[in-house]
This record gives sequence, C-alpha cells and structure tokens, in this order.
Amino acid sequence: MEILLEKLERERNLSRSEFMELLQGRNEASAENLFGRARRLRERYYGRDVYIRGLIEFTNCCKNDCYYCGIRASNGKIGRYRLTPEEILACCREGYELGYRTFVLQGGEDAGFSSEMIASLVEAIKKNHPDCAVTLSVGEHSREIYRRWFDAGADRYLLRHETADDDHYRSLHPASCSPENRKRCLHDLKEIGYQTGCGFMVGSPGQKAEHLVADLLFIRELQPEMVGIGPFIPQRDTPFGEEPAGSIELTLFLLGILRLMLPDVLLPATTALGTLDPRGQEKGMMAGANVCMPNLTPDQVRGQYALYEGKGRGETGRRAALSNLRRRMEAVGYRVAVDRGDCRRRTNN
Ligand code: SAM
Repeated sequence: MEILLEKLERERNLSRSEFMELLQGRNEASAENLFGRARRLRERYYGRDVYIRGLIEFTNCCKNDCYYCGIRASNGKIGRYRLTPEEILACCREGYELGYRTFVLQGGEDAGFSSEMIASLVEAIKKNHPDCAVTLSVGEHSREIYRRWFDAGADRYLLRHETADDDHYRSLHPASCSPENRKRCLHDLKEIGYQTGCGFMVGSPGQKAEHLVADLLFIRELQPEMVGIGPFIPQRDTPFGEEPAGSIELTLFLLGILRLMLPDVLLPATTALGTLDPRGQEKGMMAGANVCMPNLTPDQVRGQYALYEGKGRGETGRRAALSNLRRRMEAVGYRVAVDRGDCRRRTNN
C-alpha cells in the first residue's frame, strides 16, 4: 500500500488496476499514511487556512427528477420557495459582515430565474462586494449562458458530474438527463475560464469500486480546480428513500486520494459529511480538505432545501454557526480565513 501511495503522490496518478487495489485493500494504516501525505500537501499550498464559502440556496424549484434528490420535481411533499433578489443580496451583506469573501448561489434548475436575472444578480453582488468571488451552482445550461454569467463576473461554477460511468449515471437519473450533457457542461465551463468544480456522491445506489475508479480517472483528465464529494444520504420522499447512506470512512479515504492527485485543489469537507457524523468536517480537514461551506440561506426557508434526511440538523444562527466552525477548526489545528480563497494553481498538472 505504501508503495502505491508513494507512487500516487509522485505521479499524481495511478492505473485503473492500481486505484482498484488501493481502494479495495485500504485499512486503517493505509488511511493514516494517506492522510498524513494529504495534510502535508494541503499545507504546502494553503497553509493551515480553511476557506469558507457562504452558501445561499436561493431556490428549491427544479425541473429535474434525479432519483436521489429531495428537491426533485415530482416530490410533492416539500413546500417550494424562491428568494427575491433583495433577499439574496441581504444574505450576501450579512455574510460579508461576518467575514465571507465567497458567495455560492445554489439552486435547482428553475425557469423562474431567467439567465438574465442570474446575470443581474451576479453583477449586483460584484458591485456591492468587489473583493468577493461569486460561485454559481445552478445545473446544466448552454455554453452561451455560461459565457454570459462569466462575463457578468461569476468566478467559479460547481457542477458535480455525479458519476463518471454512463450506465451508472442513467440508473440515478431519468432519461431527460444525460451523462454526455453533464460532461459537456463541465468542459465548457473549464474552457470559458471558470474555476470549475465537479464531484460525486460516495455510496450512491448501485455504486461499485470500478465506478469510483472511473470518477478518479475522469477527474484526473478534467483537472478541476474544485472537487465536491460527500456521502449519499437517502431522502424519504425519493425513489432511493430506503437505500443505505454512503460511508464516512470511504469518503475520507477518497478525499485523501484527491488531495494527492490534485495537490492544489479546493476540497470542501461537505455538509453531507457533517450531517452523517458530527465530527465529519474536522475529519475531512484531517484527510486533506481545505474548504467549508456554511449556510447563509434564511432560516424561514432553509428546511425546505431538503436534499437529504437530516440536512441542516443542529445548525444554529449564522453568526453562532461561524464561531462554532472557527472553534472546531482550531481544535484540529486549522484556522478559518477571511479570504476569497482562490485556487493556487499556476501550471497545468
Ligand atoms: N441543481 C444543481 C446541480 O444539479 O448541480 C445544484 C443543486 S444539486 C441539489 C447539488 C448536489 O446535491 C448534487 O450535485 C448532488 O450531488 C447533491 N445531492 C442531491 N441529493 C443528495 C443526496 N440524497 N445525498 C447527498 N447528496 C445529494
């Protein structure tokens, strides 16, 4: 195992069969070895800083019907909401005062927000907070629309590829969603110049080790600036409501692998990790993560962005949540930074 880890750190890549061996042969000792290497690398690029992103879940209306997702179109059991532009800008204002320098606008694919409305929102946020980055996470769109938002000032885009295996992708989504289009979007975003994030759920129904290896190879090829991974967590009103949740242990191991593959990547310890395990985000940091995305969505609607069971459980007000995060990060030797937290990549790997 040590030889494989050494090779992964040196070459930033392994063959399909070596990745399989690493995943299937993992144990506590190899995980500790991996995490030690991952932490050294993250500290070489980012020191002990933890970058924070203020997450604004601005609409839970979605035209898609992904089988795993609580805000899927055919879930009639949740109330739907859309924040107004004024409400979104107020979230940013409050976030700015607390020290956020990146705002993530995330939502379903909602025709209630035209591409022009989103462009105006981006422009308004950049005008109010010129020292901040804006990240969009609003699903699949045409290259022209992505270009329009980039020109409006958007800096980053998060679009998880969900799974790099096409058959597995089709087993998680209805026929109206295609793996080809998802990947086309990611390539367009990269080419336009966004700091681009892909990612996947760990333990999604039907996922096998070879699918995870395909994910790693896809990521190696795409060279994203950000990778979002978190455990799948069932949501009771979806077709996958009875499926088991993904594993924390495997998620952490994959975070470590990703840090070795892309030493300068922006790697969040995701909310899903913190939902399944109260110390999940601290463990994520110890495995090589360097980003957290606390929620700035107004309390009145937050419960309705119900992607999975238990999301947001135990969350407090925004100020208290941030001081709590600061304390938890300091307890494991890291510090929350007031910083845009851009990717420090200089050359292509
Ligand atoms: N609509 C946008 C998109 O498709 O990228 C952004 C919102 S979407 C709800 C954000 C992410 O939530 C998805 O990429 C998916 O990986 C994650 N997600 C959805 N349902 C989940 C679940 N049951 N467990 C864990 N993660 C989930």
